[in-house]
Amino acid sequence: MTATPTKEQTLDEIQDFQGKYPKQLWYLFLSEMWERFAFYGMRGMLTIFMVERLLLSEKDANLKYGAIQAFIYTMAFVGGLFADKILGFRKSIFWGGLLMIAGSFTLAFSPEHLYYIGISFTIVGTGFFKPNISTMVGNLYKANDPRRDAGFGLFYSGINIGALLGGYLCINVANHYSWNAAFSLAGIGMTLGLGIFIFTKKTLGPIGFSPLLNKVSDAKIKIYDIMVYAGSLLVIPFILLLVTNTKYTDYFMYTVGPVAMFYIIYELFKFNKIEQQKLVAALIFIIFSVFFWAFFEQAGGSLSLFARYNLNHKVLGLTMDPNEINNSANSLFVIAFSPLFGLLWLWMSKKKLEPNTVVKFGLGFLFLAIAFYVFYYTRFFAINGMTSLNVFTLAYLVITIGELCLSPIGLSLMTKLAPQRLHGMMMGMWFLASAYGQYAAGILGAGMATADEKASLTVKLISYTDGYKQLAIYALIAGVVLIVISPLLRKLMHDVH
Ligand code: GLN
Repeated sequence: MTATPTKEQTLDEIQDFQGKYPKQLWYLFLSEMWERFAFYGMRGMLTIFMVERLLLSEKDANLKYGAIQAFIYTMAFVGGLFADKILGFRKSIFWGGLLMIAGSFTLAFSPEHLYYIGISFTIVGTGFFKPNISTMVGNLYKANDPRRDAGFGLFYSGINIGALLGGYLCINVANHYSWNAAFSLAGIGMTLGLGIFIFTKKTLGPIGFSPLLNKVSDAKIKIYDIMVYAGSLLVIPFILLLVTNTKYTDYFMYTVGPVAMFYIIYELFKFNKIEQQKLVAALIFIIFSVFFWAFFEQAGGSLSLFARYNLNHKVLGLTMDPNEINNSANSLFVIAFSPLFGLLWLWMSKKKLEPNTVVKFGLGFLFLAIAFYVFYYTRFFAINGMTSLNVFTLAYLVITIGELCLSPIGLSLMTKLAPQRLHGMMMGMWFLASAYGQYAAGILGAGMATADEKASLTVKLISYTDGYKQLAIYALIAGVVLIVISPLLRKLMHDVH
């Protein structure tokens, strides 16, 4: 068979695509889908594995879960930065994918003994993979292409198809077969994700090459690349140390955020006033998203323990492990509602009723508040400390509506508000906000785990649901503040809606 030579498309040819979506979006969709399969598969197992196999207390498991997730998303900032400055998106994704595969199979080999080593590889790998694939989606569009949000909406469905399958299957395999098999499954998912990227990247034309290309010699680029690869390997033992000692996590988190902020402020001076104001608007969105994720990310921590011990096993008459619901309901609802949301915004914009981006963010928080009120409300359905999986699932429906008002729009916003040269870094900042959210989520979750390990189910239920009520109030306040400051924020955004 002779291979037909394919002509590489130019950037204009890619961005002038016909129809609703560029074809490259589907390839990025598929790679990210499998990456999220591995990621959410693992996320769904972490806390339970730490409590049941590593015999950590619930409080420590919550803290460690928060720390692991925080490092993952912090590395996304670093990964975005190095992609912008040295590697370009393609090599970053390739390198990140390799490290994630190494991490999952290390866990699969001996989860009890190599747990933290496997996790450390995964942390660094995700940092190189995750922000850069999202930024590449933005690069498929011209600056003012109105189809960009829809593209990110579709990409977000891909994320969640992966999350759904991974979140459900991995915990299921862990329950019925073994933890080794479950972690292997995550590794297989990641291998597929990277494979799809490698085989389809030729369709991306000039997108994602090193920013140094044609600026410095190839030999020099090679040296820089090797330095980044080697540096990221050297970071792994350091991450290992931090993850195994949550005290260090605190120091790390106190330093990284401010340093990143200062760095952005330093970059800010290089741009004109309008670009600066847009970047400031992006930073305000980023700061609010920290709060959003801090509440939302109870999912992998306190909500997974709540699901393990305080929920009955019936949803709509079917018998289910509540953690299968906890790990997959959110994604299922995103997949179901994301297209409907697209249509709703379109319909509203035709009637000139579509809320602007800032109000959408505000709505995200209001739905979050309602969702946590419903988590709290589960206590009124409890019998002997065991409460309704149906009501719990309903709360996930509401939380998902909030997420859809904020998360895909946030990704798209980062690529709209930041100048091209800072795309990777700002996407990294968006994920760094998730890092702080995760970190805070762990602390909030640990704060709720006040009941003694041997306390009755009712006492545990009360302590978790008290916490959820608090979160509902904070989310409500954040939503109201955002809506109140929306006129100011819109001014800073200029022509971006
Ligand atoms: N669920 C989304 C994803 O996995 C967003 C996660 C986040 O930013 N915290 O991509």
